[in-house]
Amino acid sequence: MSNEYHHVLVAVDLTKDSHKVLERAIPIARRNQAKLSIIHTLEPLGFAYGGDIPMDLTSIQDQLDEHATQRLGDIADPYDIPREDQHIVVGMPDTEIQRFAKDQNVDLIVVGSHGRHGFALLLGSTSTGVLHGAECDVLAVRVGKDGETEE
Ligand code: AMP
Repeated sequence: MSNEYHHVLVAVDLTKDSHKVLERAIPIARRNQAKLSIIHTLEPLGFAYGGDIPMDLTSIQDQLDEHATQRLGDIADPYDIPREDQHIVVGMPDTEIQRFAKDQNVDLIVVGSHGRHGFALLLGSTSTGVLHGAECDVLAVRVGKDGETEE
């Protein structure tokens, strides 16, 4: 039987839910002998402040990137995911996840979904956004209810 997936992309928000999402994705990647990449997106500081504050945000953005890289490493290193497959990108999560997936020929995206009540809130906003625009399969891993996550 041929392998179903060749490149699995795990999107993590760096909360403790990330482990659950990753632990669901890893056996799928192994079974398919697929490459596994992990991605976290950072909101650009310029968006948050709308350019109203007359200061150079570059060094703060660099520090945030560095901090996020470190935290992503803390999550991914124990699973032996090589650093070159750990990606921090700046932008909107759903857009950047889809862009990465397209550019890197990802055929399965794995995200977390929260157990909120009601159909419209079944998936988190990021997972809903990823699902709607994705050109490949998307697996939404059920994680804790709102408020159960760290940070
Ligand atoms: P949320 O939209 O916050 O409910 O998040 C649902 C899922 O979307 C998370 O479990 C992650 O898989 C993914 N996600 C949320 N925020 C990010 C982010 N900044 N970078 C990458 N993935 C994210």
